[in-house]
Amino acid sequence: MDLFDSNAAERANLPRNMIENSMFEEEPDVVDLAKDSSAFSAFPTLDPDEVAYEPRSSRLLVRGLGENDMDDDEEDCESSARLLGMSFMNRSSSHRSNSSPYIRQSPPRTCSRPSARTMVVCVLVLVIVASLTMVLYFLPGCIFTRDGCPKANKTAPLEPVYPNSTNGELFPWAELRLPRSIRPLSYELTLTPNLDNMTFTGIAVIEMSVSHNTKRIVLHAANLNITKATFKLGDGGAQDVTVLEYKPRQQIAVKFSEELKTGQHCVLTFDYSANLSHTYDGFYNSSYTDKDGNKRVLAATQFEPLSARKAFPCFDEPSFKATFLIRINRKPTYMTLSNMPQAKTTPLRNGLVQDEFEKTNVNMSTYLVAFVVANFTSVSSTASGTKVSVYAVPEKKEQTDFALAAASKLLQFYNEFFEIKYPLKKLDLVAIPDFLAGAMENWGLVTFRETTLLLDNSSSSLEKQVVASVIAHELAHQWFGNLVTMSWWNDLWLNEGFATYMEYMSLQEIMPDLDTGNLFLSMRFRAMDKDALNSSHPVSAEVNTPEQVEEMFDSVSYEKGASILLMLNASLPKEQEFKKGIIQYLKTFSGLNTETNDLWNSLTQVSSQSQNISEMMSTWASQKGFPLVTMSRKGDKVILSQEPFLLTSDSTTKGSRLWNIPITYVNDSCSLASECRQMFTLKSKTENLKVPESVQWLKLNYKNTGFYIVDYGNDGWNALTDALSNNSTILTPEDRASLIHNIFALSRMGRVPFEQVLSLLNAMSNETGTAPVKEALLQLNRINRLLDKRQESGLVARMKTYILNHFGSLMKNQSWEEEQSLSKQELRSSLVFTACILNEESCIDKAKSLFKQYKDSNFTMKIPGDLQQAVFTVAAQSEDDWKTLLTLYTTTSNDAEKRKILKGLASTQDPRRIVWILKASLNGAIIQTQELPLIINTVCNGFIGHLFAWDFIQINWDRLIEKFPVGSFAIQTIIKSTTSQFSTQAHFDQVQAFFSNLKQRGSQMRSVQEALETIRLNKRWMESNLQALGKWL
Ligand SMILES: [Zn+2]
Repeated sequence: MDLFDSNAAERANLPRNMIENSMFEEEPDVVDLAKDSSAFSAFPTLDPDEVAYEPRSSRLLVRGLGENDMDDDEEDCESSARLLGMSFMNRSSSHRSNSSPYIRQSPPRTCSRPSARTMVVCVLVLVIVASLTMVLYFLPGCIFTRDGCPKANKTAPLEPVYPNSTNGELFPWAELRLPRSIRPLSYELTLTPNLDNMTFTGIAVIEMSVSHNTKRIVLHAANLNITKATFKLGDGGAQDVTVLEYKPRQQIAVKFSEELKTGQHCVLTFDYSANLSHTYDGFYNSSYTDKDGNKRVLAATQFEPLSARKAFPCFDEPSFKATFLIRINRKPTYMTLSNMPQAKTTPLRNGLVQDEFEKTNVNMSTYLVAFVVANFTSVSSTASGTKVSVYAVPEKKEQTDFALAAASKLLQFYNEFFEIKYPLKKLDLVAIPDFLAGAMENWGLVTFRETTLLLDNSSSSLEKQVVASVIAHELAHQWFGNLVTMSWWNDLWLNEGFATYMEYMSLQEIMPDLDTGNLFLSMRFRAMDKDALNSSHPVSAEVNTPEQVEEMFDSVSYEKGASILLMLNASLPKEQEFKKGIIQYLKTFSGLNTETNDLWNSLTQVSSQSQNISEMMSTWASQKGFPLVTMSRKGDKVILSQEPFLLTSDSTTKGSRLWNIPITYVNDSCSLASECRQMFTLKSKTENLKVPESVQWLKLNYKNTGFYIVDYGNDGWNALTDALSNNSTILTPEDRASLIHNIFALSRMGRVPFEQVLSLLNAMSNETGTAPVKEALLQLNRINRLLDKRQESGLVARMKTYILNHFGSLMKNQSWEEEQSLSKQELRSSLVFTACILNEESCIDKAKSLFKQYKDSNFTMKIPGDLQQAVFTVAAQSEDDWKTLLTLYTTTSNDAEKRKILKGLASTQDPRRIVWILKASLNGAIIQTQELPLIINTVCNGFIGHLFAWDFIQINWDRLIEKFPVGSFAIQTIIKSTTSQFSTQAHFDQVQAFFSNLKQRGSQMRSVQEALETIRLNKRWMESNLQALGKWL
C-alpha cells in the first residue's frame, strides 16, 4: 500500500497488559488454582499449536466454566473457586451455620458465671476458633474432598477464557490470531452487489484441510449477516451448521461434537448479505460526478490490512494463503474487474449478468483479493507477455497514457531485475474516484487514487514523478508482499520498506530524468525525525491488537525500512551482492510467508564478506531509534563513539543500545567521487580510527546513505564550516543537505547551540543546491511556524528577515516561466512558496498577476506545475479569488491541480472559510472526505487555523474514527498536524486530557505518545532558545 501523504508518525506501544496482570497480585490463590490446567478440561481441548495464553484469562475462566459439562473432580474445584470469589461476610456466615467438623466451637455451658480461669480458656478457645476460621477461609475447598487438590503445575499453559458468542453460547476461541489447526485451500466467491440500495449478497465456499485434530473451525467475518451455513467433510453430504459469532474480534466459529482429524478435507459454505461499506475499507461504495453533472456510483474494495472479512468470511491473516475463484453478478450497464482475467460471462435469469474470473494460479493472502464494479474505460498494451491495462472513469481516459507506459516499463524492469516473471496473465491499474490510501497492490488489480495514476498532457515532471513513484512502489509489491509475504503484521516492513526502497531504486535506473534522488534523501531525513522520539518503535515490532496493526502503516515501516536497506546495499563490498541476496530470498520463499530473519539469512548466504549480515542488521531492525555518532580528533587519531539519538534524552530512556554501524567518510583530500568513500564499522561504544595528520576535516556518512546522525564536536563543526565558507562545492549536495539536517537535529536535541546552526547556514550563504536549500528552508519554516503559534511576532519578523536575507537573491533569480529540469523545479517550488508564504512583495505580485492571466484566459492558460501551489495559495487569500478557486475545484478534471487548489483553499486565513472547509470535507458532498487529512494539515499552518483544527478534531472525534480507523495513517496524520506546533504547558495539558479521556476510542495510540513528546520537546527548545534567538537572528 502507498500512504501518499507521507507525513507519517510513529508511536510507542503502551503496556496494556500491566493492568490486567496486576489484578492477580491481589488473589494469588485464585490464579494458582486457575492456572492448573489439569484441574479443568476447559472446552474445547487444546490444539497442539494453541499453547500461549495471556494470564488475563484465568480469573474469568473460573466463572465461565459453570457453563460447561464437568466431571465430579472439576465440580469440586469449581465450587471452591466460586467460594473464594465470594465476599468475606458471606463466607464466614456460611461456615458458622454449617458447623463443619473442622471447626470446633466450644459449648457455652459454664459461661453464665465464668471464673477467671474459664475466662482465659474461653478467650484462648475463641482465638483458636478465629485462627482456624481464617486458615479455612484461605484454603481451597478441594482439600476437603476425597482426592484432595490436584498438584499445581506452573509450566502448563494457561487456559483461555472463552467469551460468549452473540447467541449466548460459549465461543470456542479466545485469541486475536486464529488457531492453526485448519488451513484454507481455496475460496469460491459469488457476489451480487446492488448499487441502487448499496447492499450485496454473497456465497462463499471455502475448502480447507485439517492440520491438527480439532473440534472447531474459527475464521473471520465482520458485519456480515450469515443466513445459512453448511459443512461437508470429505465425500460426505453437506449438513447445516450453526455459526457462532464473537463480534469484538470479528470472528465466527463452527463447533463439532466429533474431532476433525489431521489430513481431512472439508468445505464450509456460507450464504450471507451485507451493506456496502460507507467508509474506505471492505467492499465499499464510491461515487463521482460525470461531465454532465450526473452522480455515478461504483463499488470497489480495499482489504489491507483487516477488511477482507467485511466482504466475505475468510481466514483473514497474511499467512493463510489460498486460491480464489470469483464470480460477480452485475447489471449489464456495469463492468467488473478482479485479480484474474475474466473467464466467461453468462446471462442470468433475473436480468443480471454473471462475470466469472479465472481461478488464481497462485496462492494469495486475503488482503490482496480485490474486485471493482464500475463503468470504467481502459487502455492496454503488452509488456513481457503480460497484458497491462489502465482503467479510469470515461472522461479521464486521455489521462492514462503516462501510467500505461510507466507500468509497462517497470514490469519489464522488475521481471528482469528479480529474475522471476510476474506470474499472472494480466495487470490492471485502476483509478478509483474516492480512495483513501495512495494506492493498493492487490495482485493483478492495483487500485490508485486518481491523483496518483492520472496525468494530462500539461502535467509537470514533478507530477510525473509522483505517479511513476507510486506505480513503481505498487509493482515492486507484486514480488515483495504478493509473491513473498510477511507472516504477520509485525514484519510489515518486509513489504513496505522493500517496496519503498525499490520505488527509488527502479526509477533511478529506468527513468533517471525523474530525479528521485532528492525525494529519497528528504524522506530519509523525515524518517529520522520520527525515529528520534522515544515513542518510536522497532522496524519489526510486536503487534497484538487491530489498532496496532493499523499503526504499523507508518514511516518506520516504510521509510526507515527503505533507509536501512539502502544502508545495507551501500555497505556491501560488491555491487551486485544485495541484488543477488534479494533474488535468493524471493526464489527461496516464492509463494510462502517470511520473517525478518529469513531476509538477512538469504543475504548472508550470498555475501562475500566475513561479516554476518544478520548480526549487523538485527541491530537496526529489532531496536527502535538510531545512533548518534560523535567524532573527536587528536592528531592522527579519530575517536568515534555511539549512543542512541534521542530528542528527549535522559539516562532512563537511553539504555545501552548499540548498533553495528557501517560508517563511511570522506576528507578534504578526496570528497566528491564515490571512490573517495572509506569505510569503518563501529560495533562497540567507542573505537579509534587513524587518518593522516594532514587531513583538515572529515565528513562522515557519505551522501547520507547511513541511518545515523553525526556530531563533529566544536572543532569538527568549525573545520567543516570554514571549509564550506571558502567553497561549498567541496561536498556533494547530499552531504551538504545532510550537514544541515544533522545540525538542526542536534540543536533540537539541545546538543549544539542554535548559534552554531546559524554559523553553518551563514557559511553556506551561496548555496544553490536543491537538496541543501530545501532542507534549510524546511527547518527554518518549521521554527518560524512554532514562533508564530506562540505569538512571538517580533521573532517571527526577524526570522522572516533572516530567511529573505539569506535566500532572497536566490528567490528573486527564479524565473516564472516553464522550467524543464526537475531538480530546478523542485528548488523553485520550494523557494517561491516560502517567499509567498512570508508575504515577500515581489512574489505576491507575480503570483497575483499569474492568477489574473489564468482567470482572463478562462483557465486555459497553463501555470507551470511547480508554481501552481504558490499561485493558488496567494489567490485564496482574496475574497473573490477564493470563490473562483472553489468553482474551479468543482469543475477541473486534472486531479493533481485539483489537490493544489484544495490546499490553496485550505490556506485561507478567514475564520468562516476555515470552519466551512473543515466541515465540508468531513461531510464529503463537495470536498471528498479522503482529503480531510490534507485539509487539516494545511489549515494548521496558519495561526487561526491551527486553533480551529484542534477544536474541530475534539468535537468531531467520533465521526473521524468512523471514517478512518483508530491508529490508521489518516488518523496519525490528523493528530500530528493538529498538535505538533504546540509548545506550551497549557496545550500539553489539553492534549493529554483530551486523548486520555478517549479510552477505547484512541487513547492508547502511539501517535498520542508522539504528540505529547513533541509538545514537550517544542516547549523545551523554546524555553532555552527564545531569548537567544532575538540576539542571533
Ligand atoms: Zn506499499
